[in-house]
Amino acid sequence: MSARGGIDLGGTKIQAVVVDDKHEVLGDSRRPTPHEGGPQDVADAMAETVRDAAKAAGLEPGALAGIGVGSPGAVDDGAGTVTSARNLPGWEGSFDLATSLSSALGPIVRLGNDVQVATDAEFALGAADPGAPEDAEQRARVLGGAAGEIGHMVVRRGGAHCTCGRRGCMEAYAGRAAMEITARHKHEDGAKTDLFKIMEKRGRDRLTSGIWARALKREDKLATSLIERAVRALGAGVASAVNLLDVETVVIGGGMGVRLGEPYVEKIAAAMTPHLFSADRPPAISVAHLGDLGGAIGASLLVDRS
Ligand SMILES: [Zn+2]
Repeated sequence: MSARGGIDLGGTKIQAVVVDDKHEVLGDSRRPTPHEGGPQDVADAMAETVRDAAKAAGLEPGALAGIGVGSPGAVDDGAGTVTSARNLPGWEGSFDLATSLSSALGPIVRLGNDVQVATDAEFALGAADPGAPEDAEQRARVLGGAAGEIGHMVVRRGGAHCTCGRRGCMEAYAGRAAMEITARHKHEDGAKTDLFKIMEKRGRDRLTSGIWARALKREDKLATSLIERAVRALGAGVASAVNLLDVETVVIGGGMGVRLGEPYVEKIAAAMTPHLFSADRPPAISVAHLGDLGGAIGASLLVDRS
C-alpha cells in the first residue's frame, strides 16, 4: 500500500488528509491558518497538520509516497513556489513552499491551484460524474463558493469592497471572510444578530460556516439576509461563468457550500435562472460530494501525476 498526503491550504483553515491508493481517507487533521507572521509560519502549521493526519493514520510522515498541496495564489509546481497568496499573512512575494514542506516532512511535495484540485477531485471521485472519459476532457469546470479567480468575477460595478482591494467581486458578497466583515459592521451599527453570541459560545474567533448554519436555523435576521445576498451574487456570477464557458456541470464547494448543502444549492440554481443565456438548458448543479475533505483529497491526487 502506498499512502499519500494531501493539504488544502485555505485562508481560514489548513486541512490535511492521508489517503491510501484507493483514495480512502486513513487519517485527517485540521487547524486554523495563522493570522500573523509570514509564509514560513504558514508552512510550519501545514507541516504540523500533516504530522497529525499521519499520526491519525498510524503512519510516519516520511512513509508517505508524496504530499500534494492545493494552494491559493499563483502556483508554480515546477519551481515549487507560491506567489501572491493575498489571503494568507505576509505572502505578497514568492515562497518556496515545496522545499520547506519537503525538508520538514521528508516526502516529495507537489503543488496545485486550490480550486482546480478540488474540482479535479469531484470529477475523478465525487459529484460530477463525467460520463464518457472523452466528454470529461471537453467539459469546462466551475467550482464556486471557494476561493479562486472565479470569486473575483464582478457581479456589481462599484459594489461592495472586496478583500482583494477591488469592488463588486462575487467574493465580496459570498466569501466567508467578506461576509464576516459585513456582519461585524452591521452589528456595530446596531443590527440585531446572534452570530457573534454563537461564535463566543462555541469558543471560536471567526464566523465559521457552522456558525452561519446555526444562525440560519434560528432564523437570525442578519444571517438570513447576508446569506440571501450571497446567493444572489453567486447566482449572477456562476450564471455569467456558465454563459461564457458553456459548462454542463456546476459543483458548489467550499466550507459554506458543503455545510449549507442541498437547499442552498437549489437557491443558487434559482438565482442563476434570470441570468442564464440558455435558461431552457441549465447546467446540472450539485454540492461537492467529497465534502469538506474534497480539497485535501484532490491535492493528494497531485502525487500521482508524473
Ligand atoms: Zn475581489
